[in-house]
Amino acid sequence: MSFLEYAPAPESKAVLNLKDSYGLFIDGEFVDGSGSSFTTISPADETRIAEIASASDEDVDRAVAAARRAYDKTWSKMSGRDRGKYLFRIARLVQERARELAVAESLDNGKPIKESRDVDVPLVASWFFYYAGWADKLDYAGLGANPRALGVAGQIIPWNFPLLMLAWKLAPALAAGNTVVLKPAETTPLTALIFAEILQQADLPAGVVNIVTGAGDTGATLVRHPDVDKVAFTGSTGVGRDIARAVAGTEKKLTLELGGKAANIVFDDAPVDQAIEGIVNGIFFNQGHVCCAGSRLLVQESIHDEVIDRLKNRLSTLRLGDPLDKNTDIGAINSAAQLARIRELSDIGEAEGAERWTADCAIPDKGFWFAPTIFTGVEASHRIARDEVFGPVLSVLTFRTPAEAIAKANNTPYGLSAGIWSDKGSRILAVADRLRAGVVWANTFNRFDPSSPFGGYKESGYGREGGRQGLTAYLKGAAA
Ligand code: NAP
Ligand code: MG
Repeated sequence: MSFLEYAPAPESKAVLNLKDSYGLFIDGEFVDGSGSSFTTISPADETRIAEIASASDEDVDRAVAAARRAYDKTWSKMSGRDRGKYLFRIARLVQERARELAVAESLDNGKPIKESRDVDVPLVASWFFYYAGWADKLDYAGLGANPRALGVAGQIIPWNFPLLMLAWKLAPALAAGNTVVLKPAETTPLTALIFAEILQQADLPAGVVNIVTGAGDTGATLVRHPDVDKVAFTGSTGVGRDIARAVAGTEKKLTLELGGKAANIVFDDAPVDQAIEGIVNGIFFNQGHVCCAGSRLLVQESIHDEVIDRLKNRLSTLRLGDPLDKNTDIGAINSAAQLARIRELSDIGEAEGAERWTADCAIPDKGFWFAPTIFTGVEASHRIARDEVFGPVLSVLTFRTPAEAIAKANNTPYGLSAGIWSDKGSRILAVADRLRAGVVWANTFNRFDPSSPFGGYKESGYGREGGRQGLTAYLKGAAA
């Protein structure tokens, strides 16, 4: 129990101007879909937010045709300088409507407002600003002489960072001169649809961006569409495999950003207080629904007990509850299905012999919730050490030497990210060099910047997003 209780500090929903139902965004307009519709809910209390159109095969076809027309008639003919102007305009409109976007994101996704307000939405704006700056400099990016756009990109994104993943996909594609059909995740379509309003406000030429909401089938149709030149997918490794299969043997270019099981390595010379904050941020940020989450804590044996004690103390101060409350640290789990998966893997962890500890916090009656949980005594063979839980669950393993830490960190089919905590720069550099992970953070975790490429090795996928490298995925013949 905390000594002083916090009064509720909810962010107002009055800033939202939601419609009761949303159509598809095709050729610059919201249009009715010819398929069925579904409801998006708030995972914090299971209340209905809006009715969303589900794009049928015909609708996807219409969206791809609109993107092709826009590519041929306007976007591919426009100078990079003019494309950049649109991207700058979008970035500024995102900033202007930042509060509304943050509230909508927290409502639809369940993430704490302090994260959507201070992390997601500012990064969305920065992604558009960053790639706006590249649009007229493609010839000077070291990406070959006369780099040219690919054409129509089909992009599919997950529910954990709905608007941020949209920005990661759209900004480089548009800067490079492609047009787009994007499919948001079924449980979190709301901010993509508000973003479509921003595109109208920005006067983006019709058809340059089309947004088709729907379930996995809609995504599968988009991937298979013969007039799509490029597929960009972020999501699970299983679906990534299906997509790679569907695209194999075609001319389509493919990038995959998939799952992860990152090691967060804490050496005995690390500044412990900072490391504790980094561990918490690594796995409890966004309820652990983070592909690059530091879900495996590798702690040097000599400081294991101290780190775990301090970590438990720290976790006991986290507040779980209403995502729209400005004091909330841990929001809702995004869906009933995800909650079931987290519960199942946690139960397996216990059954396999790891020791489970859960922060003592009140769980709201309605909605989907999972209290921050730590497993100690985890062995490399346990499911919770191997499988991506994608929830607020940390598996703790120990090591004695740097070589053992590296071997354990790399002992995973994934390779998206890793963290190192140590006082010695030379040790950080030596260890980082030997980690098979796309991103390695040192004495920090979960830091994102549009100029820094992000992506995986092995089953975490291929291709890079962000930075100059992120442009290569959308240009002909370009190599980073
Ligand atoms: P998912 O089931 O793979 O879904 C991702 C997207 O693909 C959603 O829009 C989904 O639609 C759609 N989809 C589902 N089946 C499809 C199919 N057969 N063909 C085409 N599209 C299909 O993953 P998720 O559960 O939403 O997200 C969690 C996973 O994403 C985690 O494994 C996480 O690590 C990974 N992730 C990776 C990154 C990264 O950058 N590497 C970032 C975020 C998340 P529905 O929503 O309708 O199912
Ligand atoms: Mg929702």
